[in-house]
Order: sequence, then C-alpha cells, then structure tokens
Amino acid sequence: MKFSTQLLQGKPPFEPTGATLPPIYQVSAFAHESAEQLENVFANKAPGFAYTRLQNPTILAFEQRIAQLEGGAGAVACASGMAAVASVLLGFLSQGDELIACAGLFGGTLELLGHLERFGIHTRFAKQMNLEQVLALLTDRTKLIFTEYISNPALEVADLEGLAELAARRGILLAVDSTTATPALVRPLALGAHLVVHSSSKYITGNGSAISGVVVALRLRELQTLRQGIWHSMGACLAPQNAWLAYIGLETLALRMERAAANAAALAQALRKTYGPQRVNYPGVGAIITLRAGSRANAFALMNRLRLVKIATNIGDVRTLAIHPASTIYREANAAQKQAAGVFDDLIRVSVGLEDAENLIADFQQAAGEASNGNGL
Ligand SMILES: *Cc1c(COP(=O)(O)O)cnc(C)c1O
Repeated sequence: MKFSTQLLQGKPPFEPTGATLPPIYQVSAFAHESAEQLENVFANKAPGFAYTRLQNPTILAFEQRIAQLEGGAGAVACASGMAAVASVLLGFLSQGDELIACAGLFGGTLELLGHLERFGIHTRFAKQMNLEQVLALLTDRTKLIFTEYISNPALEVADLEGLAELAARRGILLAVDSTTATPALVRPLALGAHLVVHSSSKYITGNGSAISGVVVALRLRELQTLRQGIWHSMGACLAPQNAWLAYIGLETLALRMERAAANAAALAQALRKTYGPQRVNYPGVGAIITLRAGSRANAFALMNRLRLVKIATNIGDVRTLAIHPASTIYREANAAQKQAAGVFDDLIRVSVGLEDAENLIADFQQAAGEASNGNGL
C-alpha cells in the first residue's frame, strides 16, 4: 500500500461499532469487574485501561496509527512535542552520560539540553549532523545521538544513513526529531534510527488546533523502557481530545505536505528573485523557508507589512506564519548558540501553509515594495 492509502486504512482499536473514527474517550478512569482484574491490568497481564494518564483508547488509537506509519513497534503519546523530547532524553540518559545533538536544534530543545547539564547529562553539538562531525565528538560516555531531520530553523538536512551506521557500530541510540519532515517525507526508522520524535502540534494535527507530541520506537525494548520509565511518572500525558485531533490530522497529512511543500518551493523561487539566492534558504524538502532581511529592523519592517501572512510562533499550520526567531524562540540562547543554530539577527522564518502560492508571493512582494521605502531592503 502506498502512503496516502495507508493513511486512510487504519482501523481504530477497540471499536466494535464500525465507527470510522475512534470515539473520544473523555474519561479519567476505567472500572473493572473485580479487584483481581484491575490488578492484572496494572501488571500488564490483561489488556485494558486503568487511568488516562497511563493509557486511554483514543490515545492508543493515535499511537498505533503513527507507529504503523513510521514502521515502529509502538509509540508513546505525550502532552506536547517538548514532553516527547524530554521523555526520550530522560528515559535513556543518566548522570554522566553524553549525547551528540545538532547545533541548529529547535530552541525549546536547546533550552532543555541546557537544563540537563544540571543533572550531569552533557551535550556535544555538531554543526552538521554527518558521520565525520559526529564521529569527532563521540566519547566513551556517548549514549545517544539526537538530531532533527530538517533542523528548525537552520534547515540543515541530517545524514540519517551515516548517523545510523555510526550508532549501530557503537551500539548507541539514534533519535530523530522528525517534526518538520513527518512520515510523509521521511521514515527515519527504516533508515536505521531507533526512535522518532514528533511535535504533532505541527504538521500531524496540521491546523494549529492542539498541542501534542509522540515518540515512536523501532523495537519493543526501547518502547518498554520509554513507557515503564520516567514517562510513567512525569504526568505529561496527552489529552484524549488532542489525541483525536492528531488522529484525524494524520489522515490528510500526505495531501497537506504535498501542497505546503509545493507552495514553499514556489515562494522560495520568488523570494530568491527579489532578494537574491544567498538570502533565501529552502532545502528543497519540507515547507519552511528562511529569509535574511539584512538587519533586524528590516526583518521587523518586512514582517509588519505582511497582510496575509500571520506573525506567530508555530509551524505546520494550514496558514502561512512568519516569525523572527532571534527575538522569540531563541531569546534564552546566547550569541554563540544563536550563531551555531543559524539564528541570525536579520533572519525571518516562514512556515508555508496551504493558501494559493500566487497570493503568498504577492503578499511578500507588496511587503518588500513598501519595506524598501526608507529601509533599503
Ligand atoms: C515545535 C517543535 C518542538 C516542540 O513541540 P511542542 O509541541 O511545541 O512542545 C520540538 N521540535 C521541533 C522541531 C519543533 O518544531
């Protein structure tokens, strides 16, 4: 089955009525016929549900769909993408361990890695996530390689095959934050990664309606470590309603990614004509573009003149959104971190949505036209 068909062929588990979508089990606890039965559910000796923080049929339906699409043994859904990232880092790393991560990581993850230093978990950053650079940072303490496939907002594309080969050779884990790519564009587990993380708040839910996250594990071993580990005690569970929004979002993922990527390619081409190719970064995959406006003032002037494009901190929305990362998502990062992450003071990140490309191009052109009056843009 090809991908778009696969998206629509999932059958909700535990759904006896033939409903084409899983119901939203908006409930905290599940009653059982006997104390023994609840004991068995707690001990994983009997199938069933006890408490929504630990499992719920609507959440399970989403976990099974995403695990199937990524080719994993199973998934653990979380309250947010950050909860998913934290579950991986805290689930597999201990005091004294090191990880190697891309310098151009999402700002929230970068901030979290900073906090982990306090717990004795040290990160070494690679400018590019390829075999040579990561090999140079490996030590006896390295337990995990953490990379984004298309980094946000540096838009570096990681060499997943090279990293997977290295991880296999050293017996360490490769975790990929695939938020900006989604399984519509890449399936990291098939390329040798052990774990895939998504902020499903973004392209998977797809319309900017809810926050959620998920970790997919290739093997049962890591799945059990995740589910029985610190995740079990952190309380960062996904709400059933948001699991349902992610579930229905998945069904149209392929179509939306196709449209968003086509729009991004068209907009990038137009922006290159206006600003010159060296100012526009679009890696040719995904739907995020960055533009260097020349100065922070120019970036703000351009953003303020956009009429269609909204100024907001999100990606993967149906709407096109623009942000100035240096003053927002990367506020907490120091100058060296910003430099390494490719977050320049004049950088605008555009998450391209599903509007008509002509209208998006026209919006940037009118903004550039007006912005050039007095701003030299
Ligand atoms: C947004 C994002 C996250 C965090 O996800 P939330 O759902 O906002 O917590 C993690 N990684 C990447 C690449 C993201 O874009």
